Amino acid sequence: EGTGAASLLGAGKLEELADITGGRGIITPIVKTPMTKARKRFESAAEAHEPVEDETDDLRRPEFVIVDHELTPSQIRNLERATGAQVLDRTGVIVEIFHRHANTREAKLQVEMARLRYVAPRLRESSNGGGRQQGPGAGESNLSLDRRKIRDRLAELKTQLEAVQRDSDHRRSARKDQLRVALVGYTNAGKSSLMRALTGSQVLVQDKLFATLDTTVRTLQPETRPRILVSDTVGFIKQLPHDLVASFRSTLSEALEASLLLFVVDASDPTYEAQLEVSRSVLHEIGADVVPSRLVLNKMDRVDDARRAELLEKHPDAIPLSAHRPEDVSALRKTLIAFFEADMVEDVLVLP
Ligand code: GDP
Repeated sequence: EGTGAASLLGAGKLEELADITGGRGIITPIVKTPMTKARKRFESAAEAHEPVEDETDDLRRPEFVIVDHELTPSQIRNLERATGAQVLDRTGVIVEIFHRHANTREAKLQVEMARLRYVAPRLRESSNGGGRQQGPGAGESNLSLDRRKIRDRLAELKTQLEAVQRDSDHRRSARKDQLRVALVGYTNAGKSSLMRALTGSQVLVQDKLFATLDTTVRTLQPETRPRILVSDTVGFIKQLPHDLVASFRSTLSEALEASLLLFVVDASDPTYEAQLEVSRSVLHEIGADVVPSRLVLNKMDRVDDARRAELLEKHPDAIPLSAHRPEDVSALRKTLIAFFEADMVEDVLVLP
């Protein structure tokens, strides 16, 4: 249906989709099919319970159909029947991408739980699908067996996750007295680049959504006394399905414990304000909107002078920079040090 896949992933991100579909994601034929024509074809084929007959050759028939909305399990089933293709909805795609990018044990466990939670209700609905006829082999007993397996596995994962989280709580409390800056913001805003520039570390930077799923913590370089830690969190995304927010709560909670949040936005992106809104609402959801924050307008190297003036007028307190310019990064470093120095002076004044 035209915009779905591309708008979910953003311009130039189709290779990520191709990746999910094992390199077979032929997107053009679907994108080019006029909405009404496609719908008519799907509807009549769905009524007849048979795959869509297309006048174009087999090569152009999609193997995957990706929809930028939530679909109900029966919608997915009907679409699959009508198109003869595998259907993924928005949550399905996001879960799949998260799955590919999870690196640490904690993220892997969280993603697997999110995946199973996504699958479970889809099994449930198809087992009592309003008395409709079931496909061969989709017997009631198999389904309840599958559901029990999923439940057991979820319980197992939950125990493992709790153990891992106790460990990271320990690590966190060991860091408690340290000064913390957390980079937050929309996915692809440039958080990893900034993190790398600030800390001199080798954090993965990729022009891909969700390259960062885990929180990384590094020391601000050159070292200060006391040390200032910088952490990079999972990128936010619009309409992040609720289950996934819950899954990543512990990853995001790193942001809650920071003394300062740097809201990173891609200032060269005309939709940056909508992205900022998304980040704000995710932070509100996890209760991190009480932490002091500064807006960082990143990728200013891509912005012309007129736009720069406009942005600065709109956000007078923002820090404009480019993560690719060393002089900008070192100015940000000075701002951070000054922030914490002022904070420490306040502490001294407050304490008798
Ligand atoms: P993250 O998802 O927020 O961690 O974003 P990344 O740090 O992975 O950056 C996403 C993409 O934007 C990468 O291709 C970076 O090279 C690019 N990028 C990051 N910062 C800048 C910048 O200041 N200017 C330009 N032109 N590109 C940048």
